[in-house]
Amino acid sequence: MDEYKKNDLVTLTIEDIGSEGEGIGKADGFPFFVKDAVPGDTLIARVLKSKKTYAYAKTEKVITPSPFRVEPPCAFHRQCGGCQLQAIRYEKQLEFKQRKIMQNLVRIGGFSPEFVQERMEEIIGMDTPLHYRNKAQYPVGTDRNGNLITGFYAGRTHDIIANTNCLLGPPENQKILEEILAFMRENGISAYDERTGEGLVRHILIRKGFTSGEIMVCLVINYQVKDHRAEAFFQGQEDLINRLSRIPGMASISVNINTERTNVILGRKVYTLWGQPAISDVIHVRDMQREGFPLTGDELTFKISPLSFYQVNPVQTEKLYSLALEYAGLTGKETVWDLYCGIGTISLFLARRAKQVYGIEIIPQAIEDARENARRNNITNAEFFVGKAEEVLPEFYARNKNLSFDIPAGGAQGRTMQQKVFPDNEEFLRPDVIVVDPPRKGCDAACLSTMLKMQPERIVYVSCDSATLARDLKILCEGGYEIRKIRGVDQFGMTVHVETVCLLSKLNVEHHIEVELNLDEMDLTAAEKKASYEEIKTYVQEHSGLKVSNLYIAQVKRKCGIIERENYNKAKAEGVKVPKCPEEKEKAIIDALMYFQMI
Ligand code: SAH
Repeated sequence: MDEYKKNDLVTLTIEDIGSEGEGIGKADGFPFFVKDAVPGDTLIARVLKSKKTYAYAKTEKVITPSPFRVEPPCAFHRQCGGCQLQAIRYEKQLEFKQRKIMQNLVRIGGFSPEFVQERMEEIIGMDTPLHYRNKAQYPVGTDRNGNLITGFYAGRTHDIIANTNCLLGPPENQKILEEILAFMRENGISAYDERTGEGLVRHILIRKGFTSGEIMVCLVINYQVKDHRAEAFFQGQEDLINRLSRIPGMASISVNINTERTNVILGRKVYTLWGQPAISDVIHVRDMQREGFPLTGDELTFKISPLSFYQVNPVQTEKLYSLALEYAGLTGKETVWDLYCGIGTISLFLARRAKQVYGIEIIPQAIEDARENARRNNITNAEFFVGKAEEVLPEFYARNKNLSFDIPAGGAQGRTMQQKVFPDNEEFLRPDVIVVDPPRKGCDAACLSTMLKMQPERIVYVSCDSATLARDLKILCEGGYEIRKIRGVDQFGMTVHVETVCLLSKLNVEHHIEVELNLDEMDLTAAEKKASYEEIKTYVQEHSGLKVSNLYIAQVKRKCGIIERENYNKAKAEGVKVPKCPEEKEKAIIDALMYFQMI
């Protein structure tokens, strides 16, 4: 086959969507990843870059549009690149996300498609996949003519596309942005210039509590503060406050100081100019078993400050958390760890249903918020620790193991804190449930291996990247856990991202029976020594034509008194049925046992 070159034109029918939202089509079996293409399109694509086994291309002309193609609601959709799936009908977006999770579990996790399919529940979509984000950070800059603009970075660049009306945020954002731009123009306030490091306003952060209706505006400014009590941060500060505070819902106006030459948007210091330093939001629990996911009446209030992490899609977050809670299966007696707990949102819901919850989070400010949120909601059975999950969890595990075995009373210097925090070591070493909600890179190996050592009954894995989820599930399953349920939740309509919740449980007796039986054969009684399981199976097969399992042989042996120990025909977990040897097979096995003079 001839190699393709840049600018070649090819006619393709788009068959699939790639992980970044690009269309995938083939010409003579050679795959193309095509920008701005929708599955079902027949189109002419222009080659952008060709590799040995695939090429990148962009849509030049759509010949026959796909039935799944829709007019993108945002005029900037192509340039912006934030909403990779906006030209695709929403139901098809959900199908893509469901399949993405499935394919990652198969390709990366190594699970069979049937196994995944059996355990996968239907993805939870959004009712309205626009205006769902409660947080946006708009860069401020100038266009070619030096006019002040704000909007979004064009895909993979730092060029700002002027757009004050991003359709993912609430409609109020437009008014706020336009007020700020008008104010800046009238007062001669400059925008920050990344190339020179000069200029004042870098970003505008807007957050809204969807349930409270409270809005927060925070201007990120390049300004060295000398004495924040004495000075105004910029010319006409009172004028800006007047303009913004009139907008319905406005509750907090602040500045964030960032003088670093970095891509990191927010600096560490925030000064409130007007209103409260934080806004609040309420999250309700929903009944995920019932149609329409009705409210259960359980709810918590959270404080959100400019720097706190908070899920960006509050409507779907309720479903995500409710699903995680459902999978956690709590009754009030459990000890639960919530790793990567952020401001304690999941932890506090867990605490309402558990005996004790421990949260770990890397950002100290988030842990302060988590403790404050616990107080706000009168929750006293949740403790939070600052640090990396992969360091804090193994460390506490090791220390507590020592405390219960090696360290003599009074000899645990400096460890009295731990004793106070974890009065019952055994309980701490074996939590009933561990919930994890890591960032995209997934869990660290040290974190996973400690989780396996702790052997909780259940693990609930909340993931924002199904590729690293699949990688981690493989490790957990190799370590003695089994996937029970998996469900996608669309937190980010129009984009390629999807959240996944997975329930794992400790492998039960039914599944490791083969292993136990093999161990059993290493420790045989006199009668058992006479014939191995394999010999019995062969005898039964030859004499009766029946196939029997190790389980059935063990059951009959026990019935005949050959195996003395309490064993395998009882399930440890409730509700797990162990198959019982049918009469016909039992008779055939007894014949074999008699033949080998075992009975
Ligand atoms: N469960 C929370 C937060 C999830 S986001 C919620 O739903 O709001 C992931 C969190 O993990 C972030 O708060 C991030 O700061 C934290 N984090 C990132 N790396 C971490 C690590 N190695 N150990 C602990 N927390 C980490």
